[in-house]
Amino acid sequence: MQSQLEGIVIRTMPYGENNKIVTLFTREAGKITCMARGAKKPASRLAAITQPFTHGTYSIYKGKGMGTLQSGDQLESLRHIREDIMSTAYASYITELVDRLTEQDEPQPGIYEMLFQALHAIEEGYDPEAITLFVEWKMLQTAGLAPTLHECANCGATEGEFAFSFQELGFLCHRCFHIDPYIIRLSPALVKVIRTLYFVPIERVGSLTLKKESKSLLKQIVRTIYEEQAGIRLKSRKFLEQLERTPEFLPKKAEDDPKDS
Ligand SMILES: [Zn+2]
Repeated sequence: MQSQLEGIVIRTMPYGENNKIVTLFTREAGKITCMARGAKKPASRLAAITQPFTHGTYSIYKGKGMGTLQSGDQLESLRHIREDIMSTAYASYITELVDRLTEQDEPQPGIYEMLFQALHAIEEGYDPEAITLFVEWKMLQTAGLAPTLHECANCGATEGEFAFSFQELGFLCHRCFHIDPYIIRLSPALVKVIRTLYFVPIERVGSLTLKKESKSLLKQIVRTIYEEQAGIRLKSRKFLEQLERTPEFLPKKAEDDPKDS
């Protein structure tokens, strides 16, 4: 059976001397893994369209077992992501997370849309760290983790001061702080940011600017949830964290800083 699918390359693996096993996240059919014969040869017509983060339409033949990628047309290359090491690292982290949290051949148009929007936002130069946070908070639900963030996880109160509790997987109000000795206290602004990350559609990502310290804390919370509640630790996380600690890859302050000339 031949199908024509719109998708994004989320993972590739060399197979034998010339082939690649390619995982696509498609709009119509969700995650699909297929064999791209000859795609490792630079002259192959499959070489360009099987690069990571490529967005295209793919023609896949599926008999028994793994499908075969027959041809494809690139819609966009998302070149900036591939050429900028920080963007590559964040995009790799996002695609690995999507890969880890989804099953093969299960249509999930909402996740496709989120992945598409997230990669485009990075391509267009939005803060990749903030976009990654968006994806991480949004994907909690896909991982079967649904933190209580609209009210206190213990008493249901919506008013008051809030803290995050791993034990309760969600917010606790100040009246309930005592039930968990390891709460993380949050400013009202951070409570709002967490709700935005979790509840607001990713299309509105551009309007959100976050302080470095806020991003660190939000990242620490969400990654601890994945690790402790779902046992998920991503391979690309180590590389990302190394880059984040490397001074020459820190975001530049002004575009034309006179000291640089
Ligand atoms: Zn409470």
